[in-house]
Order: sequence, then structure tokens, then C-alpha cells
Amino acid sequence: MGLGEKRKILVVDDEKSNLAVLNQILSMEYTVLTARSGEEALKRVEADSPDLILLDIIMPGMDGFQVLVKLKGADHTKNIPVIVITGLSGENNEERGFFLGAVDYITKPFKNAIVKARVRTHMMIVNQMRTIERLGLVDPLTDISNRRSFDDRIDVEWRRCTRENKPISFLMMDIDKFKTYNDTYGHPQGDILLQSMAKLFCASARRPADIVARLGGEEFGILLPETTLDNALAIAEKIRQDVESLQIPTSDGQTMTSATISIGVASIIPGETDIIRNFIEKADEYLYAAKNSGRNRVCSGSA
Ligand SMILES: [Mg+2]
Repeated sequence: MGLGEKRKILVVDDEKSNLAVLNQILSMEYTVLTARSGEEALKRVEADSPDLILLDIIMPGMDGFQVLVKLKGADHTKNIPVIVITGLSGENNEERGFFLGAVDYITKPFKNAIVKARVRTHMMIVNQMRTIERLGLVDPLTDISNRRSFDDRIDVEWRRCTRENKPISFLMMDIDKFKTYNDTYGHPQGDILLQSMAKLFCASARRPADIVARLGGEEFGILLPETTLDNALAIAEKIRQDVESLQIPTSDGQTMTSATISIGVASIIPGETDIIRNFIEKADEYLYAAKNSGRNRVCSGSA
């Protein structure tokens, strides 16, 4: 979520006046979506993936409890927190709501301040969860996939290419003499170099299935599903040249810096007996060859 973007709340109530009030209370802080029936609520959830749902219980047709059951029964909606708004009194109904997976409840007639406070609390939890998810999968310095999410995703693409008998290629890349760069310009500048590289790589591999990842230190990888060795080599050579000509100013703007990279490229049409790890190791071997034969070059072979 970028800065200035608001989180989305879906408010579900069959009474128009309730929707209007809730919209008024919440629209300063959130993007408010509305639905006037259970059926409409489920459609809105599919179309707009809200971050939080305020759900009326008593509605004609599909009631709030039925909506909850549907939401909690599907993998892609079960984690959306639901606050139940109930005009029903008595503990039994509250218990039923919690049992079905609502995170909280508000009783009617509701007080505006209570609605705001409850929503804020649960939205804070949503924000924390998102941060945790992000930290688990994204390299915080460069904002691209980290090793863990790379391992997960390569597995999916590998199996897809195996099934469809398609080539898959991998670029293992390492910034040349990164330690010298760090020693010369300092670690903060080294971080800027890593960020610039990540941006350049992302611009070079833009198809949805392409995976650009920081695999460790100054080591990056690009997975190119449905890409032949020849095409992967062309991409690798273009990246090598782009990096070579990239000028990165120091933070004081006084000096222009530059770097080069070495790239190992492996390509394969994976068969049932092939193993991802061997494929990645091949690319690593070619990278090693590129380093040993003078750096700032692309080395390859089939995996
Ligand atoms: Mg109602």
C-alpha cells in the first residue's frame, strides 16, 4: 500500500440510514464500500477485497450469520476480519458471532465513538499483519523478493514448465567487487547501489511470471519462465550493458559511481527427474566461470 492510500472497509446493512451514518463516521480515515444485502456483500468482497468488514446480522434474505459462514469457508476471504453489528440482544447471539469467526461485535443502537474505536483497533491489527507478511517475503532494502519467497515461487513456475514442457531460464547475478565499492564510498552508498541494481533488474524482467529476487548480500537472481537459453542470454547481456553504463551519484552529488556485474545463465526444459537445486547450482557454476574469466560478463550453458 502506497502512502496516502486508504484501507478499505465494507459496510453491510439493509438499512440505508445506518449505511449513511457509518459511511459518515468512517470515510475520513478509510475508503468505505457499502452493500445492502448478504448477497451483495459477497459480491463486493470478491470484486474489491476489503481489509475489514462491518456486518449487520439481521437482513432479509441471506443474513449476517450466513455471510460469515461463506466468508470463513473460503481460503481467500477467511482472514478478512469481520465486526458484527447486531441489534439482537443476549449473549447467545454474540457467542454465535464469535464462534463463526467474527473478531468483534457492536450492538445497535451504536455510538459513533465506539464504532470508530473498534474499527481502528482491528485496522491496526490488519496493518501489523500486512507488515509481518511483507517482512517475511520482501527484502526490506530493495523491496524485491527475498530468498524465501524466491524459493516458494520458483517451485510453482518450475512445476508449471515441467507440466507444459516449456523452457525455464535463470540468471544468477553478482555485483563485481562490491566490497571495494563499499570500502570506497561507504555502506550507505553501497545500499544505494543495491537499490539501483534491483530497480534496473525489475525493469528488465517485467512479465508477471518473472521473478526478480535478492538472494543474499550482493547476489541477485532472475527467474524467466517460458524463456529459451537464447532469449535469456539476450536479456542477460542487455542487463550487463545497462549496469555498466549506469551512473549512480553519491548522496552529496559530488561523485558519479558505477559498477559491473557478472551473470551465470542456466536454461532447461525440466523433466520429471530434474531437480531445481541442480538447475540453480548450474547457474551458480556459470557465474563462477564469469567471475574467474575476468568479471563483467555473461557465461552460460544448458543445465
Ligand atoms: Mg438489519
